[in-house]
Amino acid sequence: MSDCLFCKIVRGEIPATQVAESAECLAFRDIQPQAEVHVLVIPKTHYSSMNDIADADVVGAMSMLAKEVAAAEGVDASGYRLVINTGKQGGQSVDHVHMHVLGGRQMQWPPG
Ligand code: 5GP
Ligand code: ZN
Repeated sequence: MSDCLFCKIVRGEIPATQVAESAECLAFRDIQPQAEVHVLVIPKTHYSSMNDIADADVVGAMSMLAKEVAAAEGVDASGYRLVINTGKQGGQSVDHVHMHVLGGRQMQWPPG
């Protein structure tokens, strides 16, 4: 997608602080971190949201890289949260599916 923000990050057209990469996915720091650790994991292929994903391997690849990021950031033992906001009421603001990796502080439940 030529005008998609996260596709531009994948192509290196917009800078991002990359923290990890796999064959299928990229992980980079959120520009407005909501926790000490706040990393976004995205598939390199464009999917607008979870609603567009039919292949479980895409979510699997995102989850596995997110888990690796949590360990690399040192929050695997203390705990972390993985979030995929979807659609308007889900709070999705960028239409390229992404998994938030949040950690480094106590998470609240239920989320706002
Ligand atoms: P959403 O609200 O869609 O679940 O999450 C989108 C996330 O992308 C937000 O947390 C926002 O701070 C982050 N974000 C928006 N634009 C950029 C950007 O240009 N670079 C990076 N690294 N993160 C961004
Ligand atoms: Zn995209």
